[in-house]
Amino acid sequence: PNNSMKSPNRQFSAGNGIVNVDALATKRKALAQHRKSLPIASVENRLIEEVRKHDTLIIVGETGSGKTTQLPQFLFNAGFSGDGKVIGVTQPRRVAAMTVAKRVAEECGGNLGQKVGYSIRFEDVTSSSTRIKYMTDGLLLREALLDPYLSRYSVIIVDEAHERTVQTDVLLGLLKNVQDARSKSLNNLQNTKNQKTNDDMQSKENGAQGFRFLKQYQGRTPLKLIIMSASLDAKIFSEYFGGARAVHIQGRQFPVDIFYTHHSIQDYLDASLTTILQIHLEEGPGDILVFLTGQEEIESAERLVKERLKQLPENSQKLVAVPIYSSLSSEHQMRVFAPAPPGFRKVILATNIAETSLTISGIKYVVDPGFVKARYYDPNKGLESLVVVPVSKAQALQRSGRAGREGPGKCFRLYPEDQFGKLEDSTKPEIKRCNLSNVILQLKALGVDDITGFDFIEKPSRSAIVKSLEQLFVLGALTDDCKLSNPVGIQMARLPLDPIYSKALIVASEFNCLEEMLISVAMLSVESIFFNPRDKIEEVRTAQKSFASPEGDHLTLVNVYRASNEFLEKRSGLSKEKREKAFRKWCKDNFIHSRSLTNARDIHRQIRGHVEQMGLRITSCGDDVLQFCRCLAASFFLNAALKQPDGTYRALANGEVVSIHPSSVLRNRPECLIYNELVETSRKFIRNTTRIDFLWLTELAPQFYAMQN
Ligand code: ADP
Ligand code: MG
Repeated sequence: PNNSMKSPNRQFSAGNGIVNVDALATKRKALAQHRKSLPIASVENRLIEEVRKHDTLIIVGETGSGKTTQLPQFLFNAGFSGDGKVIGVTQPRRVAAMTVAKRVAEECGGNLGQKVGYSIRFEDVTSSSTRIKYMTDGLLLREALLDPYLSRYSVIIVDEAHERTVQTDVLLGLLKNVQDARSKSLNNLQNTKNQKTNDDMQSKENGAQGFRFLKQYQGRTPLKLIIMSASLDAKIFSEYFGGARAVHIQGRQFPVDIFYTHHSIQDYLDASLTTILQIHLEEGPGDILVFLTGQEEIESAERLVKERLKQLPENSQKLVAVPIYSSLSSEHQMRVFAPAPPGFRKVILATNIAETSLTISGIKYVVDPGFVKARYYDPNKGLESLVVVPVSKAQALQRSGRAGREGPGKCFRLYPEDQFGKLEDSTKPEIKRCNLSNVILQLKALGVDDITGFDFIEKPSRSAIVKSLEQLFVLGALTDDCKLSNPVGIQMARLPLDPIYSKALIVASEFNCLEEMLISVAMLSVESIFFNPRDKIEEVRTAQKSFASPEGDHLTLVNVYRASNEFLEKRSGLSKEKREKAFRKWCKDNFIHSRSLTNARDIHRQIRGHVEQMGLRITSCGDDVLQFCRCLAASFFLNAALKQPDGTYRALANGEVVSIHPSSVLRNRPECLIYNELVETSRKFIRNTTRIDFLWLTELAPQFYAMQN
C-alpha cells in the first residue's frame, strides 16, 4: 500500500487480485478534484435551473470545459432520470461515445454498462440499470424507428452540434417533432384524464380502460432537449428551436503562439514528421498533438516516427507515438488518455476527432497540416467521393486551441500565413455535401414521406434530394410514387448499413451467395484491410498472392477473411492472449491491418445476426465464383465502369473518368468492372473493384441500364 500511494495513477489493483483500497481512494479523490476544477463545475446549479425552466436549451462552451462528461452527471444528481428514465447524450463519433462513457463511468465509480453505458452501431454496452447513455447520433435515429416517442428518455443532449454531421441535422429535426408530439400528447392526455376521472366516478366499468390509459400517460413526460456546441455561434440553433435560450460557459484558454511555414508544402506527412522531431529536440516538455486525415495516414506516420527515432542520439528524451481514429479498438483508444511513461514525450496522431470531441490533457504543441477528409457529393453526377480538403478557419482555430488548455502553447500550421486568410470561415454542413439516400430511407422509415417538406435546420438542395430518391428507386427501395411500402425497401431500412450494402445482402440471398456477401460487406465497412507502405509494394504483392483472386478485390477479401478463420480455428486450443498474439503476427506477415480485420470480423458477426433475424437464407456459392460476380454486378450496378481506349475507365452512371487504385489486386485491366468507393487524391481512384461482364448489367439491372440506354 505504501508503494502504491506514491504512484496512484499507475497501480490501483494489486497483482494478487486484491483491490488496493488506498490507491482506489487516492484515485477517487484525484478524479473528484479534477471534476471540481473544471470550468463547468462552478455553474452546476445555474445550469440545472436553466434546464428546469426551459424545455430546449443551447449550451455553448469551449472544448475541455466539461460539457460532455459533467452535464449528464449534474442532471442525474438533480433527479432527471427518475422513473427509470434515461439521460441520452449523442455524439457524432463512435470513439467519443465510447471513451467519454468510460471516463464518466469511472468518475461515477461504477462499471461501464451499469449506471453509465454507451451504445454505438454494432456494440451495445448498456443494461436496464443504465441512466446515462452515450451513443452516436445515428444510433438514436435508429432507436426512433422502434420507439417513435423516444419514451425512455427524459433528457436528450445533442452534443457537438457544431459539427453539423448529416445525422445530427436529421436528429435535430426529428427531436423537434418528438418534443412537440410528447408535449401535445401530454396535454391531450391531461385533458382526457380529467374528463376520464369524472367519467370513472360515474361508471365503475371503465376501470380497466382507465388503467390502460394511465399507463400510457405515465410513459410520456415532456422531453428536455439540450443542444451543446463548441462553436460560439449559437444563433442558428436558437432560431431553429423558436428562439430557444442559449447559455455560454466561460472557458479557460491560455495564449497559443502560431507558427506558419515560409512556403507551401508538398508532402504534409513528411513535413509533420520533421516538425514533430524538431519540437521534440528543441522545445520544452509537453505532449504533441498532430492532426492527420485518416487511419492509413496515421499508421504510416506511426511507423515513420518509429523509424526516425532510431536516428536520434542515444541519450535524448524518448518519444512515444499514440494513434487515435474511429476504427481503433476501444482498448487502444483509451491509450491516448494515459500519461506518457516517465522519460517519454507523447505524440498523439489523431484525426479531427481530437478537434473538439476529445480533450486529452498534457498537450502543449499542436501540429496542423490543415487538412481533413470529407465526403463530397455531386448531385448532378450522383457522385460521392472522399476527398482530402483544407480545413476551415473555425477548425484551424479549434485545433490550435488544443495547445492552450493547461498553459501557454504553440501551434505549427504547415502552410504559409496568407493561406489562412483564404480558408473558408466554417465548414459547410455535411447535409449539403453528401448523398442523401441513407437519410431519406431513414426518414421514410420514420414515417416522413415528404422529404422536401421536412423541417431541416438547413435544407439540402432539391437536386440532391431528387437524385437520392432516384437512386433509392433504382435500388428497388421505393415504389413508383416514392413510398417505402415494398418489402425490399422495408428490409433495407432495417439494416444498419448504407442502402447499397443492404440491397447487396438481399440480392445475395437470391443468388445463393449471402455468405460471401456478408463477408464482403463486413470487410468493406472498415477503412482498409491491407497495408500499403509506399516503399514495400513488391513485398505486399508477394504476401497478397495467396489470397488474391483473379476476379478482383471482393473475392480477395473473402479469401483473407476465410484464411483468418482457419488460422484462428487451428489455434482454438491456445489461451486468448497467445491466440491474439499469433493472430497479430500472422496479420503483420501478410501486410494486413490486424485492427481492421478484427473490426471486420466483429461487424460480420453483428450483420449476420441482423440478417438471420430478417429470415434471409445464408448459403454459400462454393466454387461457383461466377455466381458471386454476377451477384456483385446485380448489387453494385450503380458503380460500374467501362475501360476506355487509353486504359482509364469511365463510370457508367455519371461519365466520370477514373483509375483503378494501385492497392487493387486487379492488374490486367478488365473491360468492365464494379467498384465500391471513389477516392479523390491526385486523380479519381476507384477502390475495391471486381471484373464483371458488361452484358450482365442490362440483364441484371435493366431498371437502370435500359433507362440509360
Ligand atoms: P467538453 O465536452 O466541454 O469539451 P469534456 O467533458 O469532454 O469537455 O472534458 C472535460 C475534462 O475531462 C477534460 O479536462 C478532459 O481532459 C477530461 N477527460 C475527458 N475524457 C477523459 C478520459 N477518457 N480520460 C481522461 N480524462 C478525460
Ligand atoms: Mg465535449
